[in-house]
Amino acid sequence: MKFIPIAYALGIVVAASAAASAQVKANVVTTTEDLAAIGHEIGGDRIVIESIAKGYQDPHFVEAKPSFILKLQKADLLIVIGRELEIGWLPPLINNSRNARVQPGSSGYLDASTNVRILEIPTGQLTRAMGDVHPSGNPHYWLAPDNGRQIAQAIRDRLSELIPASKAYFAQRYSDFDARLGEAEKRWAATMAPYKGTKVVTYHRSWPNFMESFGLDVIGYVEPKPGVPPSPTHTLELIADMKRLGSKVIVVEPYFDLKTAQAVATQVGGKVLVLAPSVGGVKEAADYLQLFDYNINLLASTLKSLAGK
Ligand SMILES: [Zn+2]
Repeated sequence: MKFIPIAYALGIVVAASAAASAQVKANVVTTTEDLAAIGHEIGGDRIVIESIAKGYQDPHFVEAKPSFILKLQKADLLIVIGRELEIGWLPPLINNSRNARVQPGSSGYLDASTNVRILEIPTGQLTRAMGDVHPSGNPHYWLAPDNGRQIAQAIRDRLSELIPASKAYFAQRYSDFDARLGEAEKRWAATMAPYKGTKVVTYHRSWPNFMESFGLDVIGYVEPKPGVPPSPTHTLELIADMKRLGSKVIVVEPYFDLKTAQAVATQVGGKVLVLAPSVGGVKEAADYLQLFDYNINLLASTLKSLAGK
């Protein structure tokens, strides 16, 4: 007899909380895991959020699966990186979803690049000459902590418009994220301070915002142009440049072949380092702050070991 009222009471609590959350949860789809991670920081339990691309995939080249169309059909909000990062795969998915809420220009479509610092904006006419996949500025801007903050603000503002009843909740979640990010930025700056001015090479142009944030110089790329595979002529020039400038570190994204980078590293007596360009790129980078923790710790320990040689 004693257990019946308890079970009954528990049943009531579960049903009530399920009803309350069902009432307010918005369906949010993002193109990348970085946006989903930042979106979760702001949206908390008032939203359900899911990314189309995985962090270990090249975000320029995502295979458009039918299941993505189903996700977009149900979405109240779609958040994109923009700057043509997703141009090769997202537009047909949005079209085929036939969901008016998430079409570009609608209130359920958020381009996260609006208020961020964009580097490498080409001057003159925009062109995809020679396969360049960055025709309108560098789209890998989420790898600067302050750009992460700007993205969070844009998401906070849009979620507040879509779910006005939760405006204070989103504002609180944002200020908590902002405070944790601010603390982490001090820690990251201190870890990277000894390596200011270090000359590094990266495979793809994924890292200009990241390297700028911590005062490192990118002096070359394994790819001759963004999206174009290495060529023998370019590789020889890169080796010569690295030798001349004393550059010993080559940063490679997890989805590229390591062969060329390793051959270059052998020639210059340097080291290849696989960093995570996105949340989910490695299992340790499970959220936005962990993404930087992982990359900075690995980069700093590699630079320290090279300096000790
Ligand atoms: Zn790119």
